Amino acid sequence: MSSANYQRVILHPSRDVSLRRGHPWLFSGAVAKVEGKPNPGDLVSVHTSDGETLGYGHWSVSSIAVKILEFGSQPFDEAKFIQQAIAAAYARRRAIGLLDSTDTDGYRLVHAEGDKLPGLIIDVFSTSCVIQFQSEGMLRLRDEIVAALREVLGSKLQCIYQKAFDLGEKRGEVEGQYLFGQASLRNFRENGMTFLVDWERGQKTGFFLDQRENRALVQKMARGKSVLNCFSYSGGFSVAALAGGAHSVLSVDSSRAALALCAENVTLNFPAANHKCQEADCLQFLHTIPPDYDLIVLDPPAFIKHRGAFKGGLKGYETINFLAMQAARPHSLLFTFSCSQLLSKEDFWELLTRSAARAGREARVLQYLRQAPCHPVPLTHPESDYLKGFVLEIS
Ligand code: SAH
Repeated sequence: MSSANYQRVILHPSRDVSLRRGHPWLFSGAVAKVEGKPNPGDLVSVHTSDGETLGYGHWSVSSIAVKILEFGSQPFDEAKFIQQAIAAAYARRRAIGLLDSTDTDGYRLVHAEGDKLPGLIIDVFSTSCVIQFQSEGMLRLRDEIVAALREVLGSKLQCIYQKAFDLGEKRGEVEGQYLFGQASLRNFRENGMTFLVDWERGQKTGFFLDQRENRALVQKMARGKSVLNCFSYSGGFSVAALAGGAHSVLSVDSSRAALALCAENVTLNFPAANHKCQEADCLQFLHTIPPDYDLIVLDPPAFIKHRGAFKGGLKGYETINFLAMQAARPHSLLFTFSCSQLLSKEDFWELLTRSAARAGREARVLQYLRQAPCHPVPLTHPESDYLKGFVLEIS
């Protein structure tokens, strides 16, 4: 479709400031008029009140009316845009050394707004790509996305898997399916370790690639330590700790399937490791542990998924951190994370201060942690910055 044919979204006077600064979300309150009747996922063009074209994006019926793909008034070609944006995302990973590493062949190739592709997540595990569509607009560009991936990755690509996804509002479910090829390899490497990924049944794309650098840090600090890995999923931090010479590791998760994969991943790398799995709700389990851990990892799911969950979520974070601090040996390390986008680093700091006071422990920050750089954050879109963490010394 040529850009001249897109339905037009017209802004109220002087509501163009945020878009001109490069923030990719147009909130519905800024929209004065829509020429035509766009359906969710339709490509629209966005204009100032006096007709200047500001950019092109996907229409939706939520409080964010348009997610901008391309700013500017030049004609928009969606196939070309997708091809260029995916090629640029690939070049971005090459520039940080991810593509020719012998230690790591799993990385996030597309991080939604972080790569100018709102609604699209693509993770690469060795020769497989796993796509999570998060919007109808991106789903409609599926053929273009598959073509771009095949072109950019070439012979390195053996399969593309689309995760199942819920379109919401009675528009149904999209089935998990292979869009290209079939999986032959389910292993990939991270920091020199081998991991099995189950993208069909696993959570999200099958593995949490955002923690790669933080796992490397655990590896560096784990020598001789007794490690507790809470919310372990498939054992990313457990394997890292063992690689760093941990004395023992206990992995705890409420999902039996996750723990089965965790045990497999540990055995794959360290057949004789001193490792145990425990199926439990960490909020309860943490009440029962003896105070003899030298290194504790807390990497819970997002407790604050929307504004309404803020207070309850804070309490959840405060509780698990309080319990972990209580059970930490003197001079031990606590790696504590939040992947709630709505929790700022400052709020996180504050709740940790409360947890430490409650536990009667002194704590100091040794390092701030965040998501791996293959999860980029545009300066104009701080909302892409979701994962925050601290390495604390608990004395
Ligand atoms: N640290 C992991 C990722 C954690 S994802 C990694 O490095 O890969 C969050 C995990 O928390 C999931 O595996 C989920 O099954 C688990 N989980 C969610 N709620 C839980 C609870 N109340 N108790 C224990 N595990 C929980």
